[in-house]
Amino acid sequence: MAFMRILLVEDEPSLGQAVRAQIEKDGHPSDLAPTLAEARGYLAAASHDLILLDLLLPDGRGLDFLRELRAKGSNVPVIILTALDQVANRIAGLNAGADDYLVKPFDLSELSARVSAVARRYAGQPNPWVTLGDLRIDTAGRSVTRGTTDGEKRIDLTASEWALLEALIQRPGMIVPRSRLEERLYSFNEEVGSNTIEVHMSRLRKKLGADVIETLRGLGYRIRRDN
Ligand code: CA
Repeated sequence: MAFMRILLVEDEPSLGQAVRAQIEKDGHPSDLAPTLAEARGYLAAASHDLILLDLLLPDGRGLDFLRELRAKGSNVPVIILTALDQVANRIAGLNAGADDYLVKPFDLSELSARVSAVARRYAGQPNPWVTLGDLRIDTAGRSVTRGTTDGEKRIDLTASEWALLEALIQRPGMIVPRSRLEERLYSFNEEVGSNTIEVHMSRLRKKLGADVIETLRGLGYRIRRDN
C-alpha cells in the first residue's frame, strides 16, 4: 500500500484524534484541521494525497470546501465523513466530487480499508498482491510469505520494516530517496539516527533475501522489479 499524506478536516476533537491515531498507525502522516480556514492553510503549505472531510465545520460546510477544491482543478481524492441522517448530503457529496464516504459512527478498521483502497488506486496498483521472486507480499493484509517446496512460510516484519518495505513497493524499480524513508519512520515517532535506515535495511535483507533491495549510495534504495 502506498503511503499518503492525509489532511483530516474534522472539528469534533475526540473523533479527530481517534481517526488521526488510526491513519498514523497505518503509516500515513497527517494534518488535522478543525476548521476550513486551517484546512486551506494546510493545503497551501503542503501537498496532500487524500482528504478526509467532515461536512459541518464551525466556519462553513464541507461540501462548499469540496466544490471550491474541484473548481480550482484539484484531483486530490476526498472521502467524506458523514452522519447517518445526512443521506442527501452524502449524495450531494458524491456529486460535488467526493470519491467515497464513511457514515459516522464508523469502525476505525473500515476507515483503514477505505484509505488503503484509495491509496492503491492512487499508486496505480489496485491489486494488493505483489510478487517478487518467491516472495508474495500482501499490501492490504500486511503479510509477507515465501513459497517453498513445503508450502508457504510466513515472514514476520516489525512495523518499521513494513513501513520501509511499503515505501519501496510503492515505487517498484525506482529509487526511493533516503529522506522519504526517514519521513516514513518519523510518522511512527521513531527516533531516526544517522544509521537507522541502514540497520532496518540490513534486517529486511536478512529476512527477504539479499538481492531484494538495492542500495544506491548517496541516492537511496530500490526494490527489485519482477517482469
Ligand atoms: Ca462537524
